[in-house]
Amino acid sequence: MFEESRLKIGETKKQLNVLKGVYVLIIRVEDDASVNVGALGKLTFEKGLYAYVGSAQNNLEQRIKRHLRKEKRLFWHIDYLLDNGTTKVVKVFHKQADKTEECAIAKVIGERGEPIDGFGSSDCSCKSHLFRIEDYRFLQDFMRVLYVKT
Ligand SMILES: [Zn+2]
Repeated sequence: MFEESRLKIGETKKQLNVLKGVYVLIIRVEDDASVNVGALGKLTFEKGLYAYVGSAQNNLEQRIKRHLRKEKRLFWHIDYLLDNGTTKVVKVFHKQADKTEECAIAKVIGERGEPIDGFGSSDCSCKSHLFRIEDYRFLQDFMRVLYVKT
């Protein structure tokens, strides 16, 4: 059964320290944005909702906190997108799973979303790990909510 835990990062320290697995960031792009995404070059993101799939096989807490932090060295494609002033992580889902499931979940989201070609998928054969989506409620069927922006 799906159990929603509306907890803020920081308040869930104990829990997150032992968590690892696959996560999905729900990102709101508040206005059409042209973003320089490292090696991918300049991409245009239409205003709307996006889902990004990643995995952290140790210290999920640190990884999520890093995504939520604005000040950081830009390393992953997702860092470039989140560095933009018009983007916000509004929700984070999590599932305890091996790294291999990261791509399986990307596939599931890909069936309902529009892939941003090559984004976050340099190390695998997926089309993308970032999708423009209309709705993220389906994720609640198999993932837990870890963070909700209030
Ligand atoms: Zn993949």
